[in-house]
Amino acid sequence: MLKDFQADYIVVGSGFAGATIAERIASKLNRKVLVVEKREHIGGNSYDYYDENGFLIHKYGPHIFHTEKKWLWDYVSNFTDWRHYIHRVLAYIDGKKVPLPFNLNSLYGLFPTPKALRLEKKLLEKFGPGQKIHILELRSAQDQELKELADFIYRKVFLNYTLKQWGMRPEELSPEVTGRVPIFISRDNSYFQDRYQGIPHEGYTRIFERMLSHPNIKVLLRTDAREIIQLDFLYRRIYLNGREFQGRIIYTGPIDELLDFKYGELPYRSLRFQLEVHPVEYYQEVAVVNYPNDYAFTRITEFKHLTGQAHPKTMIAKEFPQEYRRDEPGKDIPYYPILREDEVEKYMRYRREIEKFDGKILLVGRLAEYKYLNMDKAIEGSLVLFENKIK
Ligand SMILES: Cc1cc2nc3c(=O)[nH]c(=O)nc-3n(C[C@H](O)[C@H](O)[C@H](O)COP(=O)(O)OP(=O)(O)OC[C@H]3O[C@@H](n4cnc5c(N)ncnc54)[C@H](O)[C@@H]3O)c2cc1C
Repeated sequence: MLKDFQADYIVVGSGFAGATIAERIASKLNRKVLVVEKREHIGGNSYDYYDENGFLIHKYGPHIFHTEKKWLWDYVSNFTDWRHYIHRVLAYIDGKKVPLPFNLNSLYGLFPTPKALRLEKKLLEKFGPGQKIHILELRSAQDQELKELADFIYRKVFLNYTLKQWGMRPEELSPEVTGRVPIFISRDNSYFQDRYQGIPHEGYTRIFERMLSHPNIKVLLRTDAREIIQLDFLYRRIYLNGREFQGRIIYTGPIDELLDFKYGELPYRSLRFQLEVHPVEYYQEVAVVNYPNDYAFTRITEFKHLTGQAHPKTMIAKEFPQEYRRDEPGKDIPYYPILREDEVEKYMRYRREIEKFDGKILLVGRLAEYKYLNMDKAIEGSLVLFENKIK
């Protein structure tokens, strides 16, 4: 079947990075694209599906689309309508549920009013309204009461959560990682402040179906690219099923895998999701409740809050972080790169090897770039790559 399809480009991976680049090449350049996907479905980690009870479930964890960029929102809106949704997260701390990122309302939820008032005033004076600050910044405050607050937030919000999520203390991680959840000097309880936020009306998978439905695109599921593509590093040639391939590859999979781990594995953290049906209309107040200090799971997601589905029962997912093991089913999904300086250096060595192919192999997406990327950034990366390197 592959013989009948003369591809100009091969795209490895059908997540947002792969689907976007395939869609652009097919529709804007009118060239043929073979999308190779090793899973049994398209959509990468943004994939969702209906289970036997009729619940729409985000298989790889809750996904909320958000971006500051109108042009990016407009691009994705070509493939979906949106359900208006503002994401709110609560954290279960000392028996109470308070807004996350930790904000001025969280203060009032956890401390007696006179103390919360005092702390609010000090925070506003020191940092100014609407500011997002890193926990390390608050920890360096001179004021004794702010210092105590910083220690409290560090212990109750960051420390145990990070230990569970990463198996490491916050100090061992890049500040970029802990900084992803700031302290917000505001009464705004929304998790993201981006101007454009939403959940695709018919789910994420429908977006991918539309993006990849172009007649110039052929999708090959359940196929590991390594089974059909061979790279000749000496002569910088690419082979597809043993025959030289003259087109280009856009690779969105793990870069270390592409080079047979010759410099060692790049480390990842993995996750396990435990799904439960509960015979109540709603299980919790919002889509996501974090449990920094209690239980082995880090958070509970209730999908109905995201999807807006009406159902007499509800479905939740408890999320358990775990070690990533490439060869062990159940632990073999690389979710989050463990970003340490030496690992980034290892990544760069891999990248330099690929660059020797003089642009015949292009890298984009969270795995090929070894970065945490939100969906908007994965799409943006592919759109920019298309404009700068392909068009
Ligand atoms: C728990 C969790 C929650 C998240 N929540 C959000 C959120 O709320 N909002 C947001 O914007 N982002 C969120 N993200 C990030 C989002 O998942 C990524 O931005 C998105 O998946 C990136 O797309 P991608 O195409 O780069 O990678 P992926 O979606 O991972 O796609 C890569 C694809 O390549 C395939 N592949 C890999 N190797 C091969 C191979 N050798 N051969 C064939 N196929 C291969 C994989 O099977 C996969 O389908 C979340 C991530 C996680 C882990």
